[in-house]
Amino acid sequence: MSKARVLLIQPPALPGTTVNREGAAGFGNQYPREGAFLYPPHTLATCAAVLKAAGYLPAVLDAAAERLSPREALERAAGWDPGYLVVQVCWPAWEADLAFCRAARARFPGVPLIVVGTILRHGDFARGAAGAADMVLVGEPEQALPAALERVRPLTQGPAPVVPAVELAPQQYDAESYLRDIESLPPPAWELTPWKRYGFLSVLSSRGCDQSCVYCPYVVGWGRRFRAWGPARVREELRWLAERFAPPRVMFRDAVFGRDRGRAAGICEAILRWQVRASWECESRPEHFDPELVRLMGRAGCARAKIGLESVEPARLAALGRVGDVSQAEMYVEAARQAVAGCRHAGIRSHVYVMVGWKDALPGEIERLGAFLQELGADDVSIKPAEVYPLTTWEGWAPVDAEAGARQAEGLARILPPPARKPRGSLLRRAMAVLRRNLG
Ligand code: SF4
Repeated sequence: MSKARVLLIQPPALPGTTVNREGAAGFGNQYPREGAFLYPPHTLATCAAVLKAAGYLPAVLDAAAERLSPREALERAAGWDPGYLVVQVCWPAWEADLAFCRAARARFPGVPLIVVGTILRHGDFARGAAGAADMVLVGEPEQALPAALERVRPLTQGPAPVVPAVELAPQQYDAESYLRDIESLPPPAWELTPWKRYGFLSVLSSRGCDQSCVYCPYVVGWGRRFRAWGPARVREELRWLAERFAPPRVMFRDAVFGRDRGRAAGICEAILRWQVRASWECESRPEHFDPELVRLMGRAGCARAKIGLESVEPARLAALGRVGDVSQAEMYVEAARQAVAGCRHAGIRSHVYVMVGWKDALPGEIERLGAFLQELGADDVSIKPAEVYPLTTWEGWAPVDAEAGARQAEGLARILPPPARKPRGSLLRRAMAVLRRNLG
């Protein structure tokens, strides 16, 4: 008997936009220009690997990365003759994604279509998707997909069932449809994706975070329980990526790579002990990057550390939930100084992220942030206008708006002198870092 053919689709982006469906733990980001940053389709590539192991014949159609129009994407899909369709939808491109699902169902009558995506955790969105699909799968989809394919039927009328992942694979999921054990996931089937278009590959070695940042979409998409691979699994994934794909760089998608310091250090030690050759990047809170860990990371091939600073204003940090109360702000800010200095010493590019967009900005708040960033001298600074994601603690009361975001981002960019915002990795500094690395 031939294997059932399953086509996993990232829908097209609208002309003039980039849609990064993997961003913000799967809520997605949309940028008003083409060619903006995109993560490789980690979720769909992992779903494909799970389906392969379960005896299906999966393929990935990455219409967003290939800049296909909806018509071109459907033509490409027809050439593959799918028996099932799985479409990853996201929040910022919601209407366009649903329109694509409707067009796909019209183009492939009798072929069941399942939608997946973090935004479906929101009941209103799940119900909205039910009119454009044959099943709405809620929760982390990977291990539930084989059971979803067994259950889904093409509908001729009425809304699709909204099915939590835990109902399909109770052993694998907790009550909120987060995977119990992410280490049981196979490596993503990158060979089915146009991954070279991205210029890098990703590793998702932990999900979830137990911190209380009120704006955070990651605790919605990946939950509040920190679930992580052990160092051995990370080492094996990196080694497999290097041998099988040799990507120029590897990006850890973990929201808080250094949340468990022992694990982070163990990953670095495993990389060094097994001589895994990889250039990698990671992201975490300032206090997770202590100088000793950063030194070890540099020796283990870390090329960039992304440091989520967000603000230096004690009242803002407390209001954001970055610190418990204003008395902890000084230590937090000092940790950012230490992290950037540690990166400089270890030959790692430091990339600091800050947030703006406050309707209730304090007098001088943006200027103080600008002055701090000047003094900090990180290699890169990203200024993000704050965004209110559905289902976050912030929903409904966040003191932010787009106009304040644009104004303050522009003001901050003016304060930052070019050297602080441009690459600073001098040849001498890099050579010294390599020397230190080799001397251990
Ligand atoms: S530390 Fe990062 S991942 Fe954790 S809650 Fe805060 S913003 Fe979210």
